[in-house]
Amino acid sequence: MVAAKRESKAALAALAAEICRRLTSEYPDAKCRLNHSSPFELLVATILAAQCTDDKVNEVTAGFFKRANTPERIARMRRSTLEAAFRSTGFFRNKARSVHEMSKRLVKAYGGRVPRDMDDLVSLPGVARKTAGVVRATAFGRPAIITDTHVMRLSRRMGLTKNKAPEKIERDLMALLPEETWSEFSHAMLFHGRAVCDARKPACDRCVVEDLCPSAYRFPHFEKRGPSLLRESREKP
Ligand code: SF4
Repeated sequence: MVAAKRESKAALAALAAEICRRLTSEYPDAKCRLNHSSPFELLVATILAAQCTDDKVNEVTAGFFKRANTPERIARMRRSTLEAAFRSTGFFRNKARSVHEMSKRLVKAYGGRVPRDMDDLVSLPGVARKTAGVVRATAFGRPAIITDTHVMRLSRRMGLTKNKAPEKIERDLMALLPEETWSEFSHAMLFHGRAVCDARKPACDRCVVEDLCPSAYRFPHFEKRGPSLLRESREKP
């Protein structure tokens, strides 16, 4: 029983390694696309990126960071000023509150510096594990699994985890992959989720891990054609 478990864990780790290899070669330039010039700017931009596109966030932060790009400055601003600045990113009241409270806490508890430690980062108001992972991986170059919605969805579809909670998915992926691959794996999965493995209509017929994925073609939009037909048609010259 113990041996079988060890074997299945080894098989899962091999699967994760192969998925990582293929996706990182498919998306060699996958990286965070949020413009920033400091860890603090990235922290703010990542909070604003919830339910919003990176392009829109970059548009908003281009002007905003010229007015305020330090926790000290933002902590002194009125909440209503922040709400107005963040309005076009959606959920602007929540985001303004998070950025405001996070800035105040940084000033009060960390001397205005963004901490590198995961536990310290997630203790900041409005900073979830995904945000903390982005900052650790991108601003500090530390290995981090980024529990973005795409990474979590794809990990479940690919059979790398059965969990739904971000911290559990993060733990499962960390156990399967070598530390030095965590950040690039996360970014490649995120890019693949955006480009191919859509939440509602994954394009399994043009997926580079289709032969490894237990969820391939198991979606309603494939029912009429079926996996075998699709495979056959792709194999024909
Ligand atoms: S085969 Fe389909 S479900 Fe699996 S990762 Fe690729 S696109 Fe997503």
